Amino acid sequence: MAIKVDQDLCTGCGLCAQVCPDVFEIGDDGYSHMIEGADQSLPCVDEAIDQCPVGAISR
Ligand code: SF4
Repeated sequence: MAIKVDQDLCTGCGLCAQVCPDVFEIGDDGYSHMIEGADQSLPCVDEAIDQCPVGAISR
């Protein structure tokens, strides 16, 4: 299943981009986005899901 960042929940804290910089980046809008073409099966994705303080990342 594709990973999704709920833009309504994301606060732009940047944690996911720190934990998993190959998959998540903070966009110009200040919120987290998936990097196009990123490998969504990387283990750090699960870490980012676990660590997101508002539970904005799902798969
Ligand atoms: S960790 Fe969660 S709240 Fe923080 S930038 Fe990533 S998706 Fe947004």
